[in-house]
Amino acid sequence: MKIICIGRNYANHAKELNNKIPEEPVFFLKPETALLPKRNPFVYPSFSNDVHYETEIVVRINRLGKHIHEQFAHKYYNEIGIGIDFTARDVQSELKKKGLPWEKAKAFDGSAPVGHKFIPVNQFDDVQNINFSLKVNGETRQKGNTKDMLFGINQIIAYVSQFITLKIGDLIFTGTPEGVGPVKIDDTLECFIEEEPMLKFKVK
Ligand code: MG
Repeated sequence: MKIICIGRNYANHAKELNNKIPEEPVFFLKPETALLPKRNPFVYPSFSNDVHYETEIVVRINRLGKHIHEQFAHKYYNEIGIGIDFTARDVQSELKKKGLPWEKAKAFDGSAPVGHKFIPVNQFDDVQNINFSLKVNGETRQKGNTKDMLFGINQIIAYVSQFITLKIGDLIFTGTPEGVGPVKIDDTLECFIEEEPMLKFKVK
């Protein structure tokens, strides 16, 4: 499986990092080794001093597809979850300056914790109106709603599948709202969809 991540998909987040609003979706990949095994802590990587959380709604692909038309894209996923797109911001800033790829900052081991629970799509009235949030040590740090995505889930699936075949089990991280920030060792992170706890782990 592969993990596809959308960048700059919420206007207020693009602004907080001084990035332009994209005209088409920006995406990058994380390998399977970026998943955090169940009950494992996130191990703070030694090559960074500024690892940030980015809380994101995650879509699980349930059908093989290539060149998917936007109007059929809803048939290619059936579950919604939540994850953290961990980013070594200091490393990413250096790579950005040099115009180099972001993998060192984004694709490292454990950089994509995903909740073990997923919610069937049919339990939502509207997938483009889902509230989600992150608490660090019990305090809310990030809050978002999928209605604020610049590119909705169906647009993302249509766009990405022009370039990359989507396979069953692939995960799409759909971008973070504003409020990203650093984590530190001993922090406890907990993610929610609406009021439901979906993912919890510690930083070690
Ligand atoms: Mg992100």
